[in-house]
Amino acid sequence: MIRVTENFRETQQLLAAAAADAARPADQIRLLAVSKKKPLEDILALATAGQRDFGENFVQESLQKINSTARDDLKWHFIGHLQANKTKVVAEHFHWVHTIDRLKIAQRLSKQRPYYAGDLNVCIEVNIDNEPQKSGVPPADVPLLAAAIAELPRLKLRGLMCLPAIRQDFEEQRKPFAALRELLEGLRSDGLELDTLSMGMSADYAAAIQEGATIVRVGTAIFGARS
Ligand SMILES: *Cc1c(COP(=O)(O)O)cnc(C)c1O
Repeated sequence: MIRVTENFRETQQLLAAAAADAARPADQIRLLAVSKKKPLEDILALATAGQRDFGENFVQESLQKINSTARDDLKWHFIGHLQANKTKVVAEHFHWVHTIDRLKIAQRLSKQRPYYAGDLNVCIEVNIDNEPQKSGVPPADVPLLAAAIAELPRLKLRGLMCLPAIRQDFEEQRKPFAALRELLEGLRSDGLELDTLSMGMSADYAAAIQEGATIVRVGTAIFGARS
């Protein structure tokens, strides 16, 4: 438990250093603690240490955690692949969905979002490296999908998310993140009001911050390796 809190503090410091390197204010970058496959106790320890945003990938697992934390000050972000038959639980319990990859999913979330819950924040997942095995929308298809999602009630389209191919070199890591930023800038000049780039994980968040990430999704560096 102590180690998770220590990792968290260290990650906050590294994040602040990466922001300084990029000449950006650290408070423009939200740290999302990715807690998939990690126990509730770790989440509660981080909540006590001040963390509020948690990312989960699996619907059943996350529902159990959300219900058992029993705190209404935590923000839950769905970052896994979302199947059409699981959208209702997500619409009812999450504050954010980062992984919209087709209009049908957005339409279901829009219909199923309860009135009492306020708008659900969503991002489009972009297959930024055009990898055949990966989910996400091809970059070329993003403008049409974004325009359609922006019209849906009870959803608030916030921006774009990506999960690029693994690269070791810092300068190489920057390229797909730069491409996502340019895609977002294009949507903005088309008139969409977007403020979110969800990009960067434990191994590459410094490069993502350099390219304008506003949410970095960090699991391993905080919680340790997953089995
Ligand atoms: C698991 C996961 C992360 C966290 O990855 P780490 O390498 O453990 O930091 C981030 N984003 C998504 C979409 C994930 O599935």
